[in-house]
Amino acid sequence: MKKLLPTSTAGSLPKPSWLAEPEKLWSPWKLQDDELIDGKQDALRLSLQEQQQAGIDIVSDGEQTRQHFVTTFIEHLDGVDFAQRETVRIRNRYDASVPTVVGAVSRPTSVFVDDAKFLRSQTNQPIKWALPGPMTMIDTLYDAHYKSREKLAWEFAKILNEEAKELEAAGVDIIQFDEPAFNVFFDEVNDWGIATLERAIEGLKCETAVHICYGYGIQANTEWKKTLGSEWRQYEAIFPKLQASNIDIISLECQNSRVPMDLLELIRGKKVMVGAIDVASNTIETPEEVANTLRNALRFVDADKLCPCTNCGMAPLSRRVARAKLNALSAGAEIVRRELSN
Ligand SMILES: [Zn+2]
Repeated sequence: MKKLLPTSTAGSLPKPSWLAEPEKLWSPWKLQDDELIDGKQDALRLSLQEQQQAGIDIVSDGEQTRQHFVTTFIEHLDGVDFAQRETVRIRNRYDASVPTVVGAVSRPTSVFVDDAKFLRSQTNQPIKWALPGPMTMIDTLYDAHYKSREKLAWEFAKILNEEAKELEAAGVDIIQFDEPAFNVFFDEVNDWGIATLERAIEGLKCETAVHICYGYGIQANTEWKKTLGSEWRQYEAIFPKLQASNIDIISLECQNSRVPMDLLELIRGKKVMVGAIDVASNTIETPEEVANTLRNALRFVDADKLCPCTNCGMAPLSRRVARAKLNALSAGAEIVRRELSN
């Protein structure tokens, strides 16, 4: 029988300080050339070992080989000029200087496939690999070529599908698309966002997931959350269409968020990665707090479809805090596992 409540993380984990400055997004690498290649692999090994020691069931690369969950993927594509930068408003929330789409976008070579093969060679556990979703990609760029968000999203979906198929062939068990933009542009999500995501997973036989959160624990996100009121009902606008989609797993933020848990009823039948760890706080959850969040979710998610997870990536946290949070996640899941087997 398969283990109940398999644990995983949303994606990124802190990097060692010898590889990149910690507790910082877009932190530049501290190594170059061959040293950087070796350093990234060593960090990936460490990150894997930390997940294993914490008892995480579905492991990942901790995104040790990438600077940023969106930018690093885009850097490998043709058609985007990183020297030509424009300031855009990301997810209607904060301004950032981003690269420009100057021509037809394409993927001349695979982006993460070698890294995925390396992770596969290091463990027999199920592995999950994160890619940015099409809508979140277009939201992190200035488009001077297609001049249509939807058109560019379809192009990215095609490219993501190529990468995903190679990741699947490399032995990845779950391919996850990060779509925080799904929490902001509801009309577009329903018009073409979910459709482009389905294009990105076309023909895959491995499991697929979409991660939709309220973002990293950075200032701009914390300020935005304050404006959302006492009940966060963003998921409500997109769940019906997601429920009807081909995506297998939906990864959500549930710990310390104001998302009413009963919204999960709208995606009944899907596997749910329930965020039971707050990534915007250094306070370590107790196992009992994690267990409570999971018990709450179990009212709306069947036990064989619930996967305890973190709210989002933990890259901006210290390694010590991230480790302690992973341990809490495992311990909390174990409490509920025991209750379920009684
Ligand atoms: Zn996230």
